[in-house]
Amino acid sequence: MSNDCIFCKIVSGEIPSTPVAQSATAYAFADLAPQAPVHVLVIPKEHIESADHLTAANAAVMGDLMLLAQEVAEVEGVRDSGYRLIVNVGADAGMTVPHLHLHVMGGRRLEWPAG
Ligand code: AMP
Ligand code: ZN
Repeated sequence: MSNDCIFCKIVSGEIPSTPVAQSATAYAFADLAPQAPVHVLVIPKEHIESADHLTAANAAVMGDLMLLAQEVAEVEGVRDSGYRLIVNVGADAGMTVPHLHLHVMGGRRLEWPAG
């Protein structure tokens, strides 16, 4: 846990969130400012600053996030229609919360390429 990290506080329950799914190592909750009918964030329960901070020692958690994202797609009803997984890394990607997270987005036709 990183003391002033809002996503660590969401994992601990100090900041409220709307749960969607969870596993032993990952937690999925509704994005506060959804940009699509389905917009869920999937985060590791341990604090990892970004995908660029993964190491050989903790990289397996990325697989855990992907598996939980599948479950999110299932419970949100977009597994058949399709969905997008987004991982922003750093300033140019628009990353605003420095705790690794997958955006799971769907429920409408998403434009490509991303902006
Ligand atoms: P990023 O721009 O990739 O860092 O994404 C951060 C995401 O976190 C944004 O989509 C925000 O809407 C979302 N967000 C920020 N604070 C909260 C919160 N307290 N609960 C849920 N989602 C949040
Ligand atoms: Zn954190």
